[in-house]
Amino acid sequence: MPGFEIFGDEEKQQILEVLDTGVLFRYEFGEQRRGIFKVKEFEEKFAAYTGAGYAQAVSSGTAAVKVALKALGVGPGDEVITQGFTFVATWEAILDVGAIPVFTEIDETLNMDPDDLKRKITDKTSCIVPVHMLGTAARIQEIVDIGDQAGIPVLEDTAQAAGGHINGKFLGTFGKCGTFSFDSVKTITTGEGGMIISDDQKLYTEMSEYHDHGHDHAINPGGRGGEGRSFIGFNYRMMELQGAIGIAQLGKLGSMIAAQRNNKNRLKECLSYIPAVRFRELIDPAGDSATFLSFTLEDSDHRRRVGRVLRENGAPPICWAENTWHFYPKWEHLLAGSTQARSGWPFAEPGGKRRVVYDPEALPASADLLDRTLVYPISIRMSETRLQDMEDAIKKAAEA
Ligand SMILES: *Cc1c(COP(=O)(O)O)cnc(C)c1O
Repeated sequence: MPGFEIFGDEEKQQILEVLDTGVLFRYEFGEQRRGIFKVKEFEEKFAAYTGAGYAQAVSSGTAAVKVALKALGVGPGDEVITQGFTFVATWEAILDVGAIPVFTEIDETLNMDPDDLKRKITDKTSCIVPVHMLGTAARIQEIVDIGDQAGIPVLEDTAQAAGGHINGKFLGTFGKCGTFSFDSVKTITTGEGGMIISDDQKLYTEMSEYHDHGHDHAINPGGRGGEGRSFIGFNYRMMELQGAIGIAQLGKLGSMIAAQRNNKNRLKECLSYIPAVRFRELIDPAGDSATFLSFTLEDSDHRRRVGRVLRENGAPPICWAENTWHFYPKWEHLLAGSTQARSGWPFAEPGGKRRVVYDPEALPASADLLDRTLVYPISIRMSETRLQDMEDAIKKAAEA
């Protein structure tokens, strides 16, 4: 999964070019920057890589979701549908723009269940946010078709699936826009950082202005600040050092995925010796970014037995049903409506009336599926000894 495994001369060279100019800001500094615009170059290269018309870099993957929701006009009074298996950032961004997150079940793709999506659309639904969790595609075309029919835009949270595609079409380009994260554990990393891609010029312009206090980034009389403002904004800018690292990392994305795919295939073959094991549904195996390997066992009891043997033999898998950051029933602060605001916003109206109450039992199908599922993160570099040890552990688990 992580680009941090392969920092090398390319990243160092890119960073030195920035330090040589002394310009860390992505805008302005005319002569001094000697034509070096690393964030802009990263945006252009990212758009070209994914085949999107536009790319807007921001300070994090969470900011990417928020900036995209803002540009789509989402706010108080709106509902945004996402899935109950994701990182908290997805729904934090939804709450932060004042909208209410509504959660769907996941299906065998471990991503949004389109049938449950249909059930959850109301006249308040203003955006649909499927997440390509653990590097693997959601049923994105089906989800976009449902959105189109209902006139609701789709924002793809592609934070965990950079470089993934379906029949050559990159994840993040199916919906109205797609967001990415480059935090420290993502497939390509800039330490912190995010990106939003879109083919919609108007949306891109709104994102560009909102993420930088409303500046329009045209050449204005009087320089930066010489323009008028269309709406209030905020600061979610990426800095030049991050852009520089991003360029180097993006150049390695293809080879990172290829290496992960080799390691993943090797482990998958071995796991298939476990009786009754099933693998996560891949919509296009050739487009899998191969950052994780997910496998499902017969029942909860079988998952516990297999998990125990793997753990005892030095190859501990992740059970997401027991993970507190990525699965709905474990988000106690969301369920309790905990917030720092004295008014209780965004869970309560000013005045105290609750806007939304979440039932921990609301997603039984997801709970059942994740309770039978185990996951291995796949690294770029897995030594022969490590793979061999894992294979030995898996062979023992096949008898559990
Ligand atoms: C990591 C992640 C984010 C947030 O990205 P940050 O860069 O850490 O803010 C959003 N959504 C998902 C699914 C993620 O995994």
